[in-house]
Amino acid sequence: MNEFHGKRIVVLGGAGFLGSHLCERLLREGAEEVISLDNFITGDPRNVAELQMLGDFLSVRHDVTDPIRIAGPVDYVFNLASPASPIDYAQLPIETLRVGALGTENGLRLAREKGAVFLQASTSEIYGDPFVHPQREDYWGNVNPIGPRSVYDEAKRYGEAIVMAYHRTYGVRTRLARIFNTYGPRMRLADGRVVPAFVGQALRGEDFTVFGDGSQTRSFCYVRDLIDGLARLALSNVTEPVNLGNPREMTILEFAEAVRAAAGGGGRILFTPLPKDDPKQRRPDITRARTLLGWEPRVSLEEGLVETLAWFRKALAVRAPAPLVEFNEFARM
Ligand code: NAD
Ligand code: UDP
Repeated sequence: MNEFHGKRIVVLGGAGFLGSHLCERLLREGAEEVISLDNFITGDPRNVAELQMLGDFLSVRHDVTDPIRIAGPVDYVFNLASPASPIDYAQLPIETLRVGALGTENGLRLAREKGAVFLQASTSEIYGDPFVHPQREDYWGNVNPIGPRSVYDEAKRYGEAIVMAYHRTYGVRTRLARIFNTYGPRMRLADGRVVPAFVGQALRGEDFTVFGDGSQTRSFCYVRDLIDGLARLALSNVTEPVNLGNPREMTILEFAEAVRAAAGGGGRILFTPLPKDDPKQRRPDITRARTLLGWEPRVSLEEGLVETLAWFRKALAVRAPAPLVEFNEFARM
């Protein structure tokens, strides 16, 4: 029997990319009830539209910067509520700071009131543009506090601080997942992150928009692996931060070629200016996750891209407007 079986679980930001996969996984594991609280600011109700079929699932429209009131017991609170793509948080700077601060505290209050485990979706952005490579959890980072990414980075750093404060002051059982670049089905095609950007460009036969000279590196984790890591962390008793990500590192140029190969097409490379403070290199050291959680990614980039492309192909087809046929024309068909 699974350890989420029979549990009542609240997911803040449950209608987003990662949140919807997490809700799905918890329901598949027999959770008694999963409640998503989301204001859909960057999420989409369609991500969770079919989850009721898997079990007792409730999708509630709620801004988690407002107080959270839930009747009855709660066993786990997962906090994934926050814009996450650099374009989203650049367009939503105040909302990002507020959800990182007030939303996180409201989630912690709920966990404290209910005696629930609280898991915070933190990020590799904690490390900023890092001087230590690969990034280990004991590196404190290099973050520009007033740059364009600071609304996200500093909100997430504050998030870790208040999580630890609730743990130390009130004994809340807290977990900190430092998530590195994760991709897969249900990302928004236009969210500006490199995976949906390149996948969309490949499928439409457009040029790949590589920022800078494409020599900056990232490490891409498939969503199934990441959700498995979050589940293991929630079920562990590990309070210190844990990196969750795929240690296979590549340049953005290499990534464009990997998408081109998987999609069997795409345009040329179009170099465009590098955004300010874009981290030059990023790769998680996952020794802690391996040792304490017995976790490591299993899905290769090639396999993950195949699944991602298949989903985006369908999404592009479904979301394109259906051709309109006049009745007279229809009658002649
Ligand atoms: P996403 O934008 O798809 O999901 C975030 C969800 O939070 C959305 O559904 C959004 O509507 C919701 N939300 C935002 N503000 C809210 C508010 N005030 N009240 C209620 N709901 C709100 O992004 P994602 O990629 O699924 O990221 C989920 C979490 O994981 C975020 O906290 C993000 O910082 C973290 N994370 C993600 C990645 C990644 O690669 N995907 C990497 C590091 C960290
Ligand atoms: N990037 C790019 N072209 C795009 C989108 C992103 O070259 O169309 C680059 C971006 O500059 C960064 C990397 O890809 O170096 C990953 O960007 P993303 O926005 O996915 O996430 P980040 O890791 O920067 O938060």
